[in-house]
Amino acid sequence: MIALPQHGGCLCGEIRYRVSDAGLTLYACHCTDCQRQSGSAFSLSLLMRRSSVSIESGQPAEYSITLPDGRRKSSQHCSLCCTRMFSPSRAPELVIVEAASLDDTSWLRPVAHIWTRSAQPWLQLPDDALQFDQRAKPDDILSFIDLWNEGQPRSSGGG
Ligand SMILES: [Zn+2]
Ligand SMILES: [Zn+2]
Repeated sequence: MIALPQHGGCLCGEIRYRVSDAGLTLYACHCTDCQRQSGSAFSLSLLMRRSSVSIESGQPAEYSITLPDGRRKSSQHCSLCCTRMFSPSRAPELVIVEAASLDDTSWLRPVAHIWTRSAQPWLQLPDDALQFDQRAKPDDILSFIDLWNEGQPRSSGGG
């Protein structure tokens, strides 16, 4: 059981933020964009309502870029240390929090793994997590939300 709110921030400490609930769901993305951007094997995406996230100090910078293949990407990061913390969701009222930027990551166990076709081959994914070869469809996201809710204490978030 996690204590709420939870806090997070960038590497250098310039940006600090707070999340007031455990979010809607948590999944790992193994797409090559996430691997390249994070410089790591995958990203941990905590889908949250924007209203549940507040900046406590600092001002995240935003970039909006066109990838070589024409796709658009944007996200918010610290302008000093470049830690990425927030990315837009398709739904304007939602935001994706880069969950590894939270101070306490011990409660973060993703319910699903997407883009597993580009996952690092040495990585063994847990059997009890949903796995998707490519992207997840909106209906799939609903099942992510159900699974995440099952794993969270329902009563503590309702305020
Ligand atoms: Zn920073
Ligand atoms: Zn990705």
